[in-house]
Amino acid sequence: MESEIKQEETVDKTKINFLPNYPFEHQSILGFYNFEQYLCLVCRGNKPTQFNEYFEVDILRDLYALRNNHFCTSCKSNSILKIQLNALQHLEHVIDLNGFNNMFFILGSKQHFGVVKVKEKQTNRVYLEEMGIPKNSQVLDINFSPQGCGFFPLMLHSNNPRHRLIEKNSIAFYPTEEQEDIPELPLGVNCQSKKLAILVQWVQEMNDISDMNLLNAIHNFIDNNQIEFIMNCNRAIEIVVGEICFNEFRKDGKKDEVESFLTSGATYGYQIKYLINLICKANSLIQIDKDILNKANTLRKLRNNIAHEGKLKGNNLLSHKEKVEYLAVTILITSILKYINNKL
Ligand SMILES: [Zn+2]
Repeated sequence: MESEIKQEETVDKTKINFLPNYPFEHQSILGFYNFEQYLCLVCRGNKPTQFNEYFEVDILRDLYALRNNHFCTSCKSNSILKIQLNALQHLEHVIDLNGFNNMFFILGSKQHFGVVKVKEKQTNRVYLEEMGIPKNSQVLDINFSPQGCGFFPLMLHSNNPRHRLIEKNSIAFYPTEEQEDIPELPLGVNCQSKKLAILVQWVQEMNDISDMNLLNAIHNFIDNNQIEFIMNCNRAIEIVVGEICFNEFRKDGKKDEVESFLTSGATYGYQIKYLINLICKANSLIQIDKDILNKANTLRKLRNNIAHEGKLKGNNLLSHKEKVEYLAVTILITSILKYINNKL
């Protein structure tokens, strides 16, 4: 009797199961992070890959390869290094599209998706592990797509509605009642059972501090939190620039002396404007395009306005176009910088 009660207590009556026959890893991006037969843009004849159909994500995959030491199996390098300004332009376009917030792919995020049959007039809960999402992963984004039928899932929150609740590694929602203005149903959809497609984007725990700042910058971009956006973009770049300078000068100098030189002598402004390309030259590496360095330097100045005055000059706000440009330059330059750092 006692064990029966105990068992009953642990059964989650709100739990709903995913329908079979739905892939949990999004079909269009399966294999996105497999670089065994990777060809860079030029070596594949400037042709799109099968992933590009998904909001033109090829550029994010090429940059992910560059920043994570996956080289082209043909040229043993990555042609993006030779077409930096074109890559920047293309990246701006893809950030502007930003289908399903796929910019997070640059940090190795994955999108898993499943379909459930919704139970009406009750809380419904799905477990992330059942979607193949490991425990301790960080959920970045959730997308609900009700399959017609005039309902929408309302996500549950705690007593304090400021925070979205991902409790017990699960997502809980309550389906709204049918509304009067039910949109016309697509052919083939019937409302006998209400179905909901759930897309969850997630990433494994991160250790790289520059990556963590880039992750926050992408969140800030989506949420239009402009002050933090500038700070995080600048930090994501400054951290790798500092690491490169330290690693280079450490070859001939003592740790303490190099640290002091970089914090009180050749500080970040000099590093980004002069030292980085000198280091590339000295190590026979491709240099970073001047226009890209100039944009990173502009970010540094904006960061200084915020750090010293708490706001952008004249209390201005960034336009959408400027936000796209700054995020693109941050993603591109950190990818090239990580490549350089790996080569030193
Ligand atoms: Zn190649």
